[in-house]
Amino acid sequence: MSKQFLEFKIDLDSFIDELRYKIEQNNAKVDELLEIECKTYINFVKPLEMMGEYLEQFFTPLSHINSVNNTQMSQKVYTDSLPIITEYSTKLSQNLDIYNAYKDIEQKEKDSLNDEQKRVLKLNIEHFELSGAHLDDDTKAKLQEINIKLSELSNSFSQNLLDATNAYEYIITDEKDVEGISQSDKESAKFEEDGKIKYRFTLQMPSYIAYMTYGKNRTIREELYKAYTTRAPQNSKIIDEILSLKDEMSRLLGFDNYAQYSLSSKMAEDEKSVLDFLYKLVQNSKQQAVMELEELKQIAPQKLDSFDTAYYSEILKKQNYDLDEELYRPYFEQQNVVTGIFEFLNTLFGIRFELTKERLWDKKASSYNLYLNDKLKARLYLDLEAREGKKGGAWMHNWQSHCKDMDGKEQLSSAFVVCNFPPSSDKNPSLLRHDDVVTFFHEMGHAIHHMLSDVDENEVSGVNGVEWDAVEFPSQFLENFAYERDVLKLFASHYQTQEIISDEMIQKLIDSKNFMSALSMLRQLEFSIFDFKLHTKLYQSDEVQILLDAIREETALLKPPSYNKFQNGFAHIFAGGYAAGYYSYKWAEVLSADVFMSVVDEGVFSSKTAQKYLNIILKKGGSYSMKDLFKELMQRDINPDNLLRLNGIK
Ligand SMILES: [Zn+2]
Repeated sequence: MSKQFLEFKIDLDSFIDELRYKIEQNNAKVDELLEIECKTYINFVKPLEMMGEYLEQFFTPLSHINSVNNTQMSQKVYTDSLPIITEYSTKLSQNLDIYNAYKDIEQKEKDSLNDEQKRVLKLNIEHFELSGAHLDDDTKAKLQEINIKLSELSNSFSQNLLDATNAYEYIITDEKDVEGISQSDKESAKFEEDGKIKYRFTLQMPSYIAYMTYGKNRTIREELYKAYTTRAPQNSKIIDEILSLKDEMSRLLGFDNYAQYSLSSKMAEDEKSVLDFLYKLVQNSKQQAVMELEELKQIAPQKLDSFDTAYYSEILKKQNYDLDEELYRPYFEQQNVVTGIFEFLNTLFGIRFELTKERLWDKKASSYNLYLNDKLKARLYLDLEAREGKKGGAWMHNWQSHCKDMDGKEQLSSAFVVCNFPPSSDKNPSLLRHDDVVTFFHEMGHAIHHMLSDVDENEVSGVNGVEWDAVEFPSQFLENFAYERDVLKLFASHYQTQEIISDEMIQKLIDSKNFMSALSMLRQLEFSIFDFKLHTKLYQSDEVQILLDAIREETALLKPPSYNKFQNGFAHIFAGGYAAGYYSYKWAEVLSADVFMSVVDEGVFSSKTAQKYLNIILKKGGSYSMKDLFKELMQRDINPDNLLRLNGIK
């Protein structure tokens, strides 16, 4: 049997040469394909599609390693490769001959193509038109220049942020200042110098959150908060450049602004429907948010500031719900959680994971084969612990996509799930917060969306081809289960006593889930509205801050300090693909809450909707618009009431 999965390997020294060579070959192949007299889906589209898949398979290990084992060398190779790959893909996406061939084939074979193939053509043609294939040569050259510049700017934005995050540390020498911090966070921060015990807090996520939530010393909290919200000031210049290039690009393509351009390939209809949707949620959450903030203000001995909210929220949460997240950690030992989610997915969808012996990029990383009904289906790579040189946060990255190749041979799918959980050591196990468990469920939701695909065309298989504003639907759907009694009982047992988490503890989790939910809803809406409006016309320099301040009049019940330059760290929209699309999180929440509530109402492990979800949403990936898949699944339109119900907002 031939190898089903690629071996994870990367040679940074030769990477650029190899990339250049592959691209040269691809370019020659494109010329060759264009020579074909009678172009068909099979002899023209399919080879192009697979060419893209193979280049992706070659490139993904570099972006992966640059994120999980970031070194100067990986940065350099990654930075050097970006213009090469962008130039190549831009040229490809502006090749009018390919565009015309696609349009021709779409017309000629419309009676014989299947839905997957039709969607590949539709998305490609749309993609061509969005990148300006039908425009004159001067405009095309201009667009190419803009694209290269934009990808460099995004990379600098995120590199500046990473450098600023890594450069900062706050050393605590007084034991009093770490009172209240959990044992595990204290252990991670602790070091010895000159025979003295000291504690190092950084802007990396587990560390920063630990102090902001539990750190008693208000001055240190402010110091950390200030350092965090003033990271990478040089990014504000990059923001101006990015905004202006995006505006120019949108106009060249015939749109009034970038928001319009962004929406043209999304599920949401138009600018108005996005802003109406967001402001409606602001309206519905505000009253409850005012009450929530009032409660916080009442327990703070001084005027409440932005760097106090996490700290007093935690106190209030403990007071109201007596929920100490630290008491939960022993029930969420990392390996238990991993095995637990596997078991849950097995019960829900009949999928099974088996550990492989593969050697990977770090000894803490591991891979699993995934079986559906005992048939090998995919491979999952897990890299779950925080370490130096690893980008913060959590994400899923797809590698292989399920499809049939040119010879009709099935190719299986694979995906990485990366998190930043507390590191385990010989002395200490990695004990997760419940939030971490939720994060892990979320990323696994993305991963199974990609891995369980049955689609034969890689470009619309798994997460490929899914509209941006629907991409978070499967992940948010799955994360909701991390609060379900029946699911938690499957795996949440104390790592020392093996005692299973009690009903009372679960009830507290559920009760406190919606704690301050209206305030956090408002915060997310603030990000979404800021991002969206920022792309409805050209904002430059001070105008960006003025816009943000104006939005905060509506959304921020507590005004952040004026030094807070949150936008300089808003990597989602300036270094990720979320520009004029951050609203997608909320949009997808509506979809996921709706389906989740049906599953719960039917009973988690006897739900017909769950089985249909596997067969319709997961197996069909991006081969249909999510609008259609959702309708097929629920047999009705979206019901947004379920999102408010899920968030406990009345
Ligand atoms: Zn996600």
